[in-house]
Amino acid sequence: MQTAHPRGGVDYPRSTGEFQSWFSTDEDCLNYLDWLRWPQGFVCPRCENPGGWLVADGSYKCSMCKAQTAVTAGTLFDRRRSPLTVWFAACWMFASQKDGVSALSLQRSLEIGSYPTAWAMLHRLRTVLVRPGRDRLTGIVEVDETYFGGEEPGLRGGRAKGKKALVAVAVERKEPHGYGRCRMAVVRDGSAESLQAFVSDSVELGATVVTDGWPSYVGVTRLGYVHEPHSQRAAAASGEDVGALLPGVHRVASLAKRWMLGTHQGRYDAAHLQSYLNEFAFRFNRRRSTSRGLVFYRVLELAIAHDPVRYRQLIANPKPKKVPPLPPERRGHPPSLDRPAANRPWRAAR
Ligand SMILES: [Zn+2]
Repeated sequence: MQTAHPRGGVDYPRSTGEFQSWFSTDEDCLNYLDWLRWPQGFVCPRCENPGGWLVADGSYKCSMCKAQTAVTAGTLFDRRRSPLTVWFAACWMFASQKDGVSALSLQRSLEIGSYPTAWAMLHRLRTVLVRPGRDRLTGIVEVDETYFGGEEPGLRGGRAKGKKALVAVAVERKEPHGYGRCRMAVVRDGSAESLQAFVSDSVELGATVVTDGWPSYVGVTRLGYVHEPHSQRAAAASGEDVGALLPGVHRVASLAKRWMLGTHQGRYDAAHLQSYLNEFAFRFNRRRSTSRGLVFYRVLELAIAHDPVRYRQLIANPKPKKVPPLPPERRGHPPSLDRPAANRPWRAAR
């Protein structure tokens, strides 16, 4: 792990211009990943011995066990086909644009030869966004479910047609107003088992869980939460606006749906819905971050700590027939975006 407070202009680029001048060659990108992975210098992943030397092909040789380790070995960039400059540019677009980027516009902007290559790059980046053991939501948390997909009224050609997926949504309610972080997960159904599992995964014990009157949530008290159910029927009877009982989850769900239709034009298949929801939550939870460069840094930091993700894992799908087949990944790698050398400020400052 790097410093808790990475510095703009030193540890991460503050602008697209800075990004371009820092990461002008594949070597610069590799040097940055090396620094992100081993800020105090190389540590052998095999025997944990700190110490080794660089060998000709840019990997390290351990001074103890003599094993050779490439900087990107065992990370998201392991056995990559696209040059690191292309990866970094993709990562910059992914992080620096508030709503992210679609595979199609990534392919066009970076002149990536095939759509599946661009598609797979973005899906690999999405994979790293969910850290295992990440903090759960705290305080007062609204929880509800909503459907994604299926027929959307007002859409021509039924482009959002397909199987509906039930998505559980949780969002922190802040006092006196506003919302904190959110979590979203595709759930199998609206049963107590499915929804309580979602609550356990997403919400810290002891938090107050605000739901509607759906009986599946009744058991959360037994799990260790304070439960605050709001019955729609009671609200309707007293003349309250039923839709306003859980304003946070409804806001998050509608923002997420709008984002799916906007950035991704509603083109996604049910098998990958969860990874889009993860991306949405990642963006929503960083919506107040003023530095997009810091988001770029965080994504790379997660990627260098993440296991490799193989193409077949990305297309692996429990119900293969429901997903339109992807064309095979075309051979021929995108050209490197090499530019004249930069001066590596992240090294100079240490
Ligand atoms: Zn070793």
